[in-house]
Amino acid sequence: MAERLLFSGGAVVTPFRVEEADVVVADGLVLEIRPRGPARPGERVVDCRGLYVGPGLVDIHVHGGGGHDFAGDDPAAIAAGAEYHLHQGTTSLTPSALSIPFVQLDRAIRAARQAVSRCRARLLGYHVEGVYLDMQYRGGHLAEHVHNPDPREYRPLIEAHGDFITEWTLAPELPGALEVVAACRRAGIVVSAGHTRATYEQFMAAVEAGLSHTTHYACCMGNLRFEALRPELSTGKGFAPGVLEAVLLRDEVTTEIICDGFHLHPGLIQLVFKAKGAAGACLVSDTVFGVGMPEGEIVVGDQPTVLKNGIAVIRDRPEIIASSVTPLSGMLRHAHRRAGLPLAAAWEMASATPARVIGFGDRCGVLAPGRDADLLLLDADLAVRGVYVGGVRAV
Ligand SMILES: [Zn+2]
Ligand SMILES: [Zn+2]
Repeated sequence: MAERLLFSGGAVVTPFRVEEADVVVADGLVLEIRPRGPARPGERVVDCRGLYVGPGLVDIHVHGGGGHDFAGDDPAAIAAGAEYHLHQGTTSLTPSALSIPFVQLDRAIRAARQAVSRCRARLLGYHVEGVYLDMQYRGGHLAEHVHNPDPREYRPLIEAHGDFITEWTLAPELPGALEVVAACRRAGIVVSAGHTRATYEQFMAAVEAGLSHTTHYACCMGNLRFEALRPELSTGKGFAPGVLEAVLLRDEVTTEIICDGFHLHPGLIQLVFKAKGAAGACLVSDTVFGVGMPEGEIVVGDQPTVLKNGIAVIRDRPEIIASSVTPLSGMLRHAHRRAGLPLAAAWEMASATPARVIGFGDRCGVLAPGRDADLLLLDADLAVRGVYVGGVRAV
């Protein structure tokens, strides 16, 4: 009989509450979660006293790590970036690319596919963030790479990689965007609205076409409009919702929060949590590849970017945050400690919810019998004390 591991004495985060329990792991899977007690024959004890034991984290929006950019074409570099995040408690992730030419995007996705077998963390797919974004709301994306949808670009890419691309972020108001939504849905790709100033009507048309997620809530996202609501009556102006309000209203649409203490005020994090619940909002790191590097200047998508004080800022446009430099476990800590979300909810938002959003909810992100034994051990300060992938200690 294969060796069984007994994660004993910890506070277990299981869907989705914190309880005193033991976790038994065998053959790469969670076998059972049972009341605390002594080890049984054939079980090797992993002492978890004083620790939280929960599912490994799942990051569906992450651009690199440890100095390695996920938009590059080197599988070894992608694996090294994933390894950085594994050390921070992220056991599954989807590498993400900023807006880059499609030729480069194709190479990056090929490299990510090759990196799957080289990674100790699980690469679940690839997140295409961009190209088809609103120019004015492009944020850190380079203007020269941002443009309207072109089927000559996206069709071949989806043809080649539709089985691996898990998510595509676009601005649904662009001409031709609904055709991209439909093409993605046919290939099983989750479509997310981001870098957008769509009207409520434009946004809902995309939801009707199959859009189901929204990228980094509030960041580069259009909000309330003051406009003539009944122009045929020659009245004054009233208020209409933008994407920011529509996300909170529509239960069928999920969203994601960059919870690093810089992007969103704690009150806004609490508002999203109140409206969407832990099942409707993911925590995502959206880290630039410079996370884990010393403070200083790096180049992100040809733009000089300054890493300082826990954030990445574009040097020539200092009002623009380029990306975060906080890994997902740091987001979990901030959500609980600073924004006041319950620990079990914050953990769910960093594991089960993102896994479910991209269609992996039956595999990872939850500690339950039959699921992958991807475990994260955190101490009382929510610092990483151990990481297991498929029941094997990785960190
Ligand atoms: Zn973005
Ligand atoms: Zn991003």
